[in-house]
Amino acid sequence: MRLNYHLLFFLAISLSGYGQIINEISDPVDYVNPLMGTDSEPGLSNGNTYPAIGVPWGMNLWTPQTGKMGHGWAYTYDAYKIRGFKQTHQPSPWMNDYGQFAIMPVIGMKFDQDERASWFSHKAEIAKPYYYKVYLADHDVTVELTPTERAAQFKITFPASDSAYLVVDPFDKGSWVKVIPEENKITGYTTKYARGKLVNFKNYFVLKFDKAFDNVHTWEGKNLAEGVTEMEGNHAGAIVGFKTSKQETINVRVASSFISLEQAELNLERELAQDDFDTTKKKARDLWNDKLGRIKVSGGTIDQVSTFYSCLYRTLFFPNKLYEINEKNERIHWSPYNGKILPGYMFAGTGFWDTFRALYPFLNLVYPSINKEMQAGLVNDFKEGGWLPEWSSPGYANIMVGNNSASVVSDAYIKGLRGYDIEILYEALIHGANNAGPMTAVGRAGAEYYKTLGYVPYDVGINESAARTLEYAYDDFTIYQLAKALKKPKKEINYYAERSLNYKKLFDPSSGLMRGKNKDGSFQSPFNPFKWGDAFTEGNSWHYSWSVFHDVQGLIDLMGGKENFVMKLDSVFDLPPIFDESYYGGVIHEIREMQIADMGQYAHGNQPIQHMIYLYNYAGVPWKAQYWVRETMNRMYLPMPDGYCGDEDNGQTSAWYVFSAMGFYPVCPGVNEYVVGAPLFQKVTLQLENGNELVINAPGNNAQNRYVNELKINGKVSTKNYLDHNELMKGGTLEFDMKDEPNRNRGTDKEDFPYSFSIEK
Ligand code: CA
Repeated sequence: MRLNYHLLFFLAISLSGYGQIINEISDPVDYVNPLMGTDSEPGLSNGNTYPAIGVPWGMNLWTPQTGKMGHGWAYTYDAYKIRGFKQTHQPSPWMNDYGQFAIMPVIGMKFDQDERASWFSHKAEIAKPYYYKVYLADHDVTVELTPTERAAQFKITFPASDSAYLVVDPFDKGSWVKVIPEENKITGYTTKYARGKLVNFKNYFVLKFDKAFDNVHTWEGKNLAEGVTEMEGNHAGAIVGFKTSKQETINVRVASSFISLEQAELNLERELAQDDFDTTKKKARDLWNDKLGRIKVSGGTIDQVSTFYSCLYRTLFFPNKLYEINEKNERIHWSPYNGKILPGYMFAGTGFWDTFRALYPFLNLVYPSINKEMQAGLVNDFKEGGWLPEWSSPGYANIMVGNNSASVVSDAYIKGLRGYDIEILYEALIHGANNAGPMTAVGRAGAEYYKTLGYVPYDVGINESAARTLEYAYDDFTIYQLAKALKKPKKEINYYAERSLNYKKLFDPSSGLMRGKNKDGSFQSPFNPFKWGDAFTEGNSWHYSWSVFHDVQGLIDLMGGKENFVMKLDSVFDLPPIFDESYYGGVIHEIREMQIADMGQYAHGNQPIQHMIYLYNYAGVPWKAQYWVRETMNRMYLPMPDGYCGDEDNGQTSAWYVFSAMGFYPVCPGVNEYVVGAPLFQKVTLQLENGNELVINAPGNNAQNRYVNELKINGKVSTKNYLDHNELMKGGTLEFDMKDEPNRNRGTDKEDFPYSFSIEK
């Protein structure tokens, strides 16, 4: 049965208020709200998402465009006007877009982005992952679109008019259009890219109409070229006219390629074939139901179910495919490094600083086949560019810190992914771990200092040095893990094992926190643990002091034992949300999101602290993790336009929710374990790609019962605060007995605690 989200929502509210329990999910895509997170602006992110209309990991996404050309906030919920329907590859408004172009139906000859813009209402808008529909009031035109991986179909319903038009806008910074009236076709390319220069970069597009053009024009900038069929310039575009009868629909089939016009045509033929609009729509819908349906939840409120699937949807886009399939059925790609067309996989659109934490581990558990392609893509990144990307949008971007590609590569291999050249990736990790890259965000800035001193000094002109050091030490740990798995020489294994302890060098006993350290060994001074940035990245010492994913026991020892450690964790929530923003010269949105969340210093809206709640498990007080996990799920996520508590960030913040709702979280990628939290639903069924089924039962779950009284794994009681990845992959049943009071005897012994390097089992 197909469930209508709005109907269900109405029923839920009118029949039993907030609490209606959903027990049977047949079509999970119906619970997704693509508008979750779109009520955002640069100063306050409630997700900073746009309604991504596409298919999982598709090369192209589509979004209604409310923002101006080139503006990162492409669609914002509070906007009144739509100015186009944009093919986009944008991973984040901060990274902005590349290879984007827009189309827009209008009545009257209006091609300028402001003149053609139309009022619209969310009351006349349907946003689904596989389908978008909106009424453009100023033109009395209804637009519907439905996507494939590299193509899309538009169904545009016009009023009776002798001046109906369709604008094709390939944006500025170098574009070209050519209208071919005898074939009802428009071709062109855009070269637009927000960040500097890309070599030999063009996104070629082709649009095919099912109605002949009545008249054809092109334009450049503000100037119309009447009757001219081809235009090249900084900002070239086309506008083609039609005579339409009332309710006449015009179908537009569109595809693109980063390789050539011929490849764009091939992508169109292959992906749209003879399909009509409804067939493409059904295929996209079925695809979503298949992918989302790998996890079925039941026994939660409609808001919880909707939040879950809206989050799951966000985990299935990035990094998106940058490769295409040629006429010989071979995978080929445009290289962001040398502009050549080369064989094999390539992906783009993710920042590892965000996504190493939960998104990649999530793929390794539920969707490993796509991550095998991504790993093969990383092999090509290294071969073509000489380094692994840390923030690919596409290629190398000089943003954020760390060398977390090591975690992404190691976790995939350790979790059992095979079928790509791991030896080359290992070589890439060793190279990246010991050398400064072509920019500070690739390889390791301060590598020489790190190798000799064991940390990146605060006073040598390398920004955010403590964050770098802590992440490098963890990254070294993941290399150590991979080196062991690949049976590398003992000396090499030991070298990275030793370096993984470098986090200790930044621990300041006087504050009990991590602190920047100068070249001469003295700590940075003055030191304000509430100061954002400076020695840290988009966070303060209270956030970053927990970035010892691989050796929490070592951190507990530094902090003076379990009791002190737990007190310190508690303090994060107890402290007021005070801050020092002077490093940034203003309050960045991540600070504001912490300040307003009423969770003290706990800044769930940004990545550095997102694993912290789970650390209670390493100190024998798992019920505190259970309390705060539920609290965070309840308060920081809603399936609404303002439903995230900060940047969603390419599936990372969503993967946190999906994992947490299942009852566990990958605190330390690179280790074959998940740390137990507390499941949200009464039942979760996980269909693994290997054919096995994992069932997570928690029949006692409700608003009051958030504590784990007992856990049984395949019928046997487990007192452990962790789950083994290999065991989960075999399928089976986790049985959680949930209660409204903590069980203070469960998970309290040392042998129950999750992995720590210092006490390696
Ligand atoms: Ca972030």
